[in-house]
Amino acid sequence: MSQLDYLVKGGLVVDQGVIRRADMAIANGKIVTVAADLAEAAKRTIDARGKYVLPGIIDAHTHPVYLDDLQGTSEAAAHGGITTVIHYAYAKPGTKLMEAINQFRQDGESGSVLDFALHGGLFDPKHQAEEIPMAVAAGVTSFKMFMTYAKLKWMTDDYQLMRTFDIISQAGGMGMVHAENGLATDYLQDKYLQLGRDPKEVFVATRLAVLEAEAVNRAIAIAQVAGCPLYIVHLTASEDVEVVARAREKGYRVFAETCPQYLTLTSEEIFGQGALAKIGPPLRGKQDNQALWKALAGGVIDTIASDHAPKQKTKGDDFFAAAYGSPSTETMFPVVYDAGINGGELSLPRLVQVMCENPARIFGLYPQKGTLQVGSDADIVIVDPALTHTIEQKTQHSHASYTLYEGRTCLGRPILSMQRGEVILEKGTLHTSPGHGKFLRTDTKDGTRGFFAKKKQEQDKY
Ligand SMILES: [Zn+2]
Repeated sequence: MSQLDYLVKGGLVVDQGVIRRADMAIANGKIVTVAADLAEAAKRTIDARGKYVLPGIIDAHTHPVYLDDLQGTSEAAAHGGITTVIHYAYAKPGTKLMEAINQFRQDGESGSVLDFALHGGLFDPKHQAEEIPMAVAAGVTSFKMFMTYAKLKWMTDDYQLMRTFDIISQAGGMGMVHAENGLATDYLQDKYLQLGRDPKEVFVATRLAVLEAEAVNRAIAIAQVAGCPLYIVHLTASEDVEVVARAREKGYRVFAETCPQYLTLTSEEIFGQGALAKIGPPLRGKQDNQALWKALAGGVIDTIASDHAPKQKTKGDDFFAAAYGSPSTETMFPVVYDAGINGGELSLPRLVQVMCENPARIFGLYPQKGTLQVGSDADIVIVDPALTHTIEQKTQHSHASYTLYEGRTCLGRPILSMQRGEVILEKGTLHTSPGHGKFLRTDTKDGTRGFFAKKKQEQDKY
């Protein structure tokens, strides 16, 4: 038998709903054995005693088009224990969808340090939707539209939403929405700004949770009529959770994502940090943080992703002129681990489900990614639960000049990660090179079907 590349010894392996003490043998980029007390020779043995061994984290929501490009986003993500990223290939108005997809894939293949997949981002579905079957054939099977940002001319109206979901459904893909009622928001914003009110107050007062929940419900209804699976990105509020829970009870193929910022920050940040904390949808209240944690633990929300979108701005910028978005991929795992696990909100197996297994399943990357089974890619992250660190912009790897978590101390940190059986991160240093990452084809048709088959299995067990 040929020698192993790595033996990971004595760790607590978290996978498939359980935590167990097991060793892991790795050869030729794959996991070859997971069992107690392995004694085979390996080129390197890693002592994982007292540490958790997790599948590599998947960040299924990143925007590599601002201060961090595809390479920079993947490097920042890798520093946070992430091994797979799914970027939005943004097709702005006037751009062909396939042009955008081909460009992003090329940039990733030359620059990405992590394996990556792509979502299509449709800014003008009226002129872009006909390319969806081509995108599906090219391995890009999920497509996002904006139900808001009418003033930016990014909004998709209900006619185009219905038409595009119909096309996606027939092509075997999955729809995605940024759900907020854009026109109602715009009216309120115009009205309040005319009254001369503080822009930060106007921002909070015009992006109401009920207008988000309304859009979530509308998207679910339209997708259901089209027979199209739907993934709702970045849920922020307890009102959204109620709507998604009702759709799930009816057996609709609806998936929901939230982000670290909606779990751990509130609209207080907008008043303290000004334009830096301008993100869309907005940060909300404490009770929303709590409702989202509960929905994650209870199975209504399926995934956590970062919405990494670092922009050039300062605290004092004109609030409405400033761009939406903040850096968040590198801080995602430590922040969620500390608040979720140490805060008692989630079990560690459930955390692995929402940050590894579920995104892999939904996007059809499972069991190559998202799990530590024999035959899976050896994408692993070793977490030291006793290691404390304080988040500071100056030690972050994004090109953003700030982090919303400045000064936050987190207990628990990734200390080593591997991509396909090679160590890519060790004690804060990256050992990888641009172009190391491989393009991954998603398959949401198989993925969404498999996800619900497994859910049913779990329910039948009890
Ligand atoms: Zn986003």
